[in-house]
Amino acid sequence: MCVPVCAKDFAALGHACRRASEFADIVELRLDCLESDDFAAPLAELLARLSIPLILTCRPSEQGGYRDLSLQQREAFWNTDFQTLCDVEADLVSAIAVDRSRMIVSHHDFKRVPDDLELIYERLAATPARIVKIAVQANDITDCLRIFKLLDRARKQKRELIAIAMGNAGIATRILGPSRGAYLTYGSLEDGSETAPGQVNARELRSVYHIDKISNETMICGLVGMPVMHSVSPHMHNAAFAAEGSDGVYLPLEVRDIETFVKRMAHPSTRELDWNLRGLSVTAPHKSSVLGLLDWVAKDAQEIGAVNTVVVEGQRLLGYNTDVAGLIEPLLERVGSVNGLSVAVLGAGGAARAAVWVLKRHGARLRLFSRTRPNAEKIGQEFDIPFEPLSAGSFHDYDVVINATPLGSGPFIRHAPAVIEQLGGAGLVYDLIYNPIETELLKQARAAGCQTLGGLPMLVAQARRQFELWTGKTPSSDLMHNAAAAALRR
Ligand code: NAP
Repeated sequence: MCVPVCAKDFAALGHACRRASEFADIVELRLDCLESDDFAAPLAELLARLSIPLILTCRPSEQGGYRDLSLQQREAFWNTDFQTLCDVEADLVSAIAVDRSRMIVSHHDFKRVPDDLELIYERLAATPARIVKIAVQANDITDCLRIFKLLDRARKQKRELIAIAMGNAGIATRILGPSRGAYLTYGSLEDGSETAPGQVNARELRSVYHIDKISNETMICGLVGMPVMHSVSPHMHNAAFAAEGSDGVYLPLEVRDIETFVKRMAHPSTRELDWNLRGLSVTAPHKSSVLGLLDWVAKDAQEIGAVNTVVVEGQRLLGYNTDVAGLIEPLLERVGSVNGLSVAVLGAGGAARAAVWVLKRHGARLRLFSRTRPNAEKIGQEFDIPFEPLSAGSFHDYDVVINATPLGSGPFIRHAPAVIEQLGGAGLVYDLIYNPIETELLKQARAAGCQTLGGLPMLVAQARRQFELWTGKTPSSDLMHNAAAAALRR
């Protein structure tokens, strides 16, 4: 794993290098970040002090560097026989003094995966440079396929290749690349210091994704949705893989078009990638649309109309819904039974629908509260339950109040779907939101004298059942809870 460091002066560069060398295998000095042009002497001094393997890079802005550099400036810089790996652009390869055995020849495209990617590879591979590097922007997760194919090709040709699909859609190439033959992958020194789009925090590459342990046989699971980068699911599932001693890794897979993803990357009979894919978590906006793409769907998931878990079994994709069990489990743990209890469900989206489906089966007396009528009317008619406007809601007489709206999270972080005056007298307020862990609604409910339950136990319970479906093993709730809570507190 290579950690790029970028600093304006040598003092800061040296400091960043020392920090990076605590967990990097190689540190890349991004010399194009330096403000001064006259850095031959301080660079020689820094190189003499550093004992970790290094890559020197001095990238011009047209290839994603931080400064404008003329050809003459670049040639002059590289006319020193550095004793480290040197990452140079293709136009310099034959014009400079760098030893070919220490040369990485690189090509970057920050807009797309170019049509002529393979030709670019061939051109770079035909130079005398020892290592080829290609970093291109993925605009869709299926762009990773061409990078993985290139890695396969280079491996067969025994060519050392660094190939990266940049951007969130390309994360899989950063995490799985080394296991598929990539010479290295890059990880950022810290959050916010990424030197390219989609770079994963280097510490997380090791501590969350256990990148050194991933091989071609490693079981792969992932979260499919858009967006997914905020998710704490990789923290929970990878902690479970590590604790269970399972050879597995769980990745964020940013998928815009679920149909194309399933066809080209997931379904065993049509996919173009040879990988040990075992399971997928499915999140918004694909929970309903994925249903029609599967070979078998569990009855409850069919009835709810949503799949949040896919298992790859032989040549088939199987669909499950662990959200409902995840939702009811912590509630039953708290109240014992909901049979006969009066429950107010706030919201009329997917989570509200799942809540209504499972609570009805458990014998609760339900009423829906929603800001708009159409969705509430649909659920109301389907499950034969009354509904009323959320704004007029009064919850004094309810045993349980469940928030299934986003009020309290994201842009609505300071909002609550109900306040103290509406809540007094209610038994338990269950907020499905888990980020933040402590929501405004929970504060209001506590002030009103209600019992409270947050959304994190639901998140953990549904994830635990997913893990069981993929691996047959039952991870500890506490372990997954702590992993998620730690990630949320960051
Ligand atoms: P969804 O399908 O988008 O539904 C959201 C519902 O909330 C809709 O009925 C919507 O009303 C309503 N809503 C949206 N903005 C609102 C506002 N400003 N004021 C009042 N109502 C508003 O989302 P979902 O999948 O059901 O998820 C809902 C929440 O549940 C999420 O925010 C998430 O935090 C939580 N959740 C937690 C877990 C967990 O594991 N703990 C799992 C799933 C969901 P309209 O019908 O009028 O559009």
